[in-house]
Amino acid sequence: MKKLVIAIDGYSSCGKSTTAKAVAAELHYAYLDTGAMYRGVTLFLLENDIAFDDLPRIEHALREDIHLSFRHSRRAGRNELYLNEVSREDDIRQMRISNSVSEVSVIAQVRHAMVAQQQRLGRRRGVVMDGRDIGTTVFPDAEVKIFMTADVNIRARRRQDELAAKNEHVPLPDIIENLRKRDHIDSTRAESPLRRAPDAVLLDTTHITIGEQVDFVLDRVSAAIFAAYAR
Ligand code: C5P
Repeated sequence: MKKLVIAIDGYSSCGKSTTAKAVAAELHYAYLDTGAMYRGVTLFLLENDIAFDDLPRIEHALREDIHLSFRHSRRAGRNELYLNEVSREDDIRQMRISNSVSEVSVIAQVRHAMVAQQQRLGRRRGVVMDGRDIGTTVFPDAEVKIFMTADVNIRARRRQDELAAKNEHVPLPDIIENLRKRDHIDSTRAESPLRRAPDAVLLDTTHITIGEQVDFVLDRVSAAIFAAYAR
């Protein structure tokens, strides 16, 4: 059967990764969390005291020092981001990374390196990718494109619960501010901004369950497969 690329873009904390993971599991597709890659680069720059405007050092680090990969942890039951052969999955989810990642994601050199790696990882298709620019820049030819949004208060509460489950307790106003700031920077940057592709289907997750989100995407996948064979 023809293997598709499924692009799930949208605002922060709308449930993109939860939906993408479930869709990938259902279809036996690979799942690629592109946000984790930008978080990995941010972690490396912070840990190595590389200023976000020090472009020569950033370019050098991207070329020589930053090696990102994903591996499945059976013990934790999840895919984990590896930075230079060490799992950094827990570190990249912390608020200190969330507070800086959008500033790193505007850097053109960072975007070029991440987009090239994402295109390589998805070249055999059969992949669900979530991010901000998958349907517009990474795979503009994706057969299924979803653009997710939700009320910011609902998103913040979901994010607060996720962090609390990892023992990081953050006040709701701080999370709302972080989400608004990231959405603003992500949507207004010059290089591949967060934007709904003209052929992306809008999915508002404010009032629906995860199961309904997954079914919505799977319905689109069925329609895309049918369209591919009807052609
Ligand atoms: O998806 P997640 O919230 O983990 O993404 C973290 C940040 O990485 C986003 O706020 C955005 O700045 C950046 N990002 C991006 N392009 C992507 C995925 C994430 O710029 N494709």
